[in-house]
Amino acid sequence: MNDESQKEKLRQHFARRVTTQARVVLDTWQKIHEDREKAAVHRGEFIAATDKLVRYAQRFEMAGHAEAGQAILELTNHWEAGSMLDESLERKLRDAIETLSQSTLRRTDFNNSETPHQFRRTPVYIALANQEMAGRLIRQLEFFGFRASAFATAQDLTEACALHKPETILVDVNFGGTPNAGIATIEHLQERHDTPIPIIFMSDEDGSIETRLQASRCGGEEFFFPAVDPGQLIEKIETYTHGNTVEPYKVLVLDDSRAQAKYMETVLKKAGMVAHIITDPMQIIHALEEFSPEIIILDMYMPGCTGMEIARVIRQQDRFHSVPIIYLSAEEDVSKQLHAMSLGGDDFLTKPIDPKHLIATIHNRGRRARSLLALMIRDSLTGLFNHTHTLHLLDQEIVRSRQKDQPLCFAMIDIDFFKKVNDTFGHPIGDRVLRSLSMFLKQRLRKTDHIGRYGGEEFAIILPNTRPSDARNVLNEIRERFSELQQPAGDREFHVTFSCGIAAWNSESSQALCERADRALYTSKEHGRNCVTLAD
Ligand code: GH3
Ligand code: MG
Ligand code: MG
Repeated sequence: MNDESQKEKLRQHFARRVTTQARVVLDTWQKIHEDREKAAVHRGEFIAATDKLVRYAQRFEMAGHAEAGQAILELTNHWEAGSMLDESLERKLRDAIETLSQSTLRRTDFNNSETPHQFRRTPVYIALANQEMAGRLIRQLEFFGFRASAFATAQDLTEACALHKPETILVDVNFGGTPNAGIATIEHLQERHDTPIPIIFMSDEDGSIETRLQASRCGGEEFFFPAVDPGQLIEKIETYTHGNTVEPYKVLVLDDSRAQAKYMETVLKKAGMVAHIITDPMQIIHALEEFSPEIIILDMYMPGCTGMEIARVIRQQDRFHSVPIIYLSAEEDVSKQLHAMSLGGDDFLTKPIDPKHLIATIHNRGRRARSLLALMIRDSLTGLFNHTHTLHLLDQEIVRSRQKDQPLCFAMIDIDFFKKVNDTFGHPIGDRVLRSLSMFLKQRLRKTDHIGRYGGEEFAIILPNTRPSDARNVLNEIRERFSELQQPAGDREFHVTFSCGIAAWNSESSQALCERADRALYTSKEHGRNCVTLAD
């Protein structure tokens, strides 16, 4: 081994140590974030982990991590031992953590071409009689960034679950040898957990209603019979993990009584929502802009104006035309309530507020508002942003890049010879390929990147705060990995590749930027496909 490559190997080795430590910091933060009441308990652990991260990062010259760690450490100076984390500090810390997590996810920073990092914290467990098949599934899952482990005996599985609760378990109905032994193991397992683990059952011989019922009663969400389709399996797992990461609702409360507003804030936060309270109606425009609420709660009677008047002003702005508005008042006169609702309100709650009722109302309204919004901005096949919304996001990101003076890249992807996939394997398999690419992109890009389905088999990606060379490296690696992915089609398998064109924003309009990315994509096609071109 020559000197250079030895050095490079060492560098990669140490880079890994730094990123592992960064992950420890992120995990500890997660604990603090999950249970704010107990935040003080994890304070010391959090500071120590961050301190270690900074020392490692400095020693191994990873400036991004060192800076991010230092920013966190400085904030923790304002967090007294034994005390709760106050709200504004928590918000600042969250931002600093986000910066750290971005430098951790950006894998090409340290240029290693190893198997993908596992972004998911909880694993997927596999308990099948057929070990070879389990191995194959694990490799497939790993391609999508899931951490999966296989188990050979019920005892091993039970022990592993006690140690670390999995995202889901794929289990053979007959796991353990005798008929329905797998179901018995799961029944036993579920008793130990407050919330049941979603289970995916499979069986290659018994698809009877009795067995299916028994499976479903102990948490069986799916029942694959007589074989597991890896594509379907991954999609299912993806939906469970999505379910776990529902973003909290953002609720804006306007109430002139500080005590009432504070009370609402406590109730909302306890229910896991993000609350922003104001007591001065004149602050409403500013709060809308700054906080972008998903739900608005308005007091009916305030000095200077009424909730109904405020609602009317809110509705005059296109962006907030469909945000649910809930009125809050001691008003019990039904006809007055109805009048208020006719003026742009969606619901009416009477004081004193029953917290359960309040939270249930917000959940109902919020869920509906989100699903309506999703219909408007997402593509139904892949769940990615649709063409229109992608362009809208691009415009937004251009504004932000200009303000912050940061680089921005736009990439376009087109699947190669996709018509042939449809012609050979059929349209439904073609659809599955589109979904697999969209999941692949979602798992491999940062949370701050935007992914859209641009058209049929074309995708667009917006990469904020990304230098062109980084964008190229990231997409090149995704391209390579995706081409290795085995696409199942019945008992056959095939591979799919894509071509990509990237343009770095150079102060031009979004339209000009798209055109340059499109031309770069065309160049990739001309050069034989399955490659990435960076527009000059
Ligand atoms: P190239 O490498 O030049 O991009 O070749 P191609 O075959 O991928 O490109 P072409 O534009 O000729 O064909 C695109 C095909 O994508 C045609 C269309 O049937 C298919 N397609 C578009 N949308 C969908 C979809 O939603 N589902 C499926 N299954 N196929 C789709
Ligand atoms: Mg095309
Ligand atoms: Mg194509």
